[in-house]
Amino acid sequence: MGSIVKIMSYIKIQQITKSYHERRKPLCTDKSASSEILVLNDINLEFKKGEMVCILGPSGCGKSTLLRMIAGFETPSSGQVLIKDKPVTGPSDDNIFVFQHSGLLPWMTVWENVILGVRHLEEQERNARTQEYIDIVDLNGFEQHYPHQLSGGMLRRAELARAVAVQPEMLIMDEPFSGLDFLTHMKIREELVNMHEYLKKSMLIVTHDIDDALIMGDRIIVMSNRPSRVKLEKVLDFGRPRDLSRIPELNELRDELFFMLGVSYAV
Ligand code: ADP
Ligand code: MG
Repeated sequence: MGSIVKIMSYIKIQQITKSYHERRKPLCTDKSASSEILVLNDINLEFKKGEMVCILGPSGCGKSTLLRMIAGFETPSSGQVLIKDKPVTGPSDDNIFVFQHSGLLPWMTVWENVILGVRHLEEQERNARTQEYIDIVDLNGFEQHYPHQLSGGMLRRAELARAVAVQPEMLIMDEPFSGLDFLTHMKIREELVNMHEYLKKSMLIVTHDIDDALIMGDRIIVMSNRPSRVKLEKVLDFGRPRDLSRIPELNELRDELFFMLGVSYAV
């Protein structure tokens, strides 16, 4: 009998729902008015090791909430998140790193910030790794700069180097390009794709930009309006780099996604 190669699901999201109490109390005093809002409604998803998955969805549909539950910062109202078949009960450092803007310590240089992630290694390896991650994000020459001395794009690169230095099994990113100008956005996106090709890390990226998802994702997930369900899941089995204008299937899907997210693209 030949060997069966089974691709393990790294993360499983099983029948997750999440409700919140309304933040603002309604003005009316009607006690029967419910103050619970259902944000996520029966979400079932699986993520494989090494996959780059992009999540798209309208604002307020619960994307950040979902990421926070995977990272263990929040608990679902029902259902569960499993990482390697173990239920998530709280944040775990070694599995998952949540990429954050302003994640650098302002009183430390780029070098010092990145080396923090590999501080447990012995000196030679520590230095080599730090240099490697700084090189990946194209910041060589800026090792001794402080965060405030960097441009917006360089800062984001330094934050990425800091994130991958921790060597997480999965990198979770909530709108990683927010606040960047158009060209910097394109460049950082390219860095991220290169980084993924090089490091083969699992990445889960929330973006509101359809082109980001089409260019980066091994798979895309589209969520509906609140109470949110998974509206579409699609494997993007195209190589990288991807030139959207030359791949008719992606162009078609792009129109479909614009329509799905409520925008008429033909403006
Ligand atoms: P998205 O990231 O898709 O824009 P969020 O996950 O941030 O959406 O939020 C989804 C919904 O849940 C929003 O209506 C938001 O107001 C609500 N929400 C998020 N976090 C909380 C919270 N801690 N308490 C109450 N409501 C919340
Ligand atoms: Mg959000």
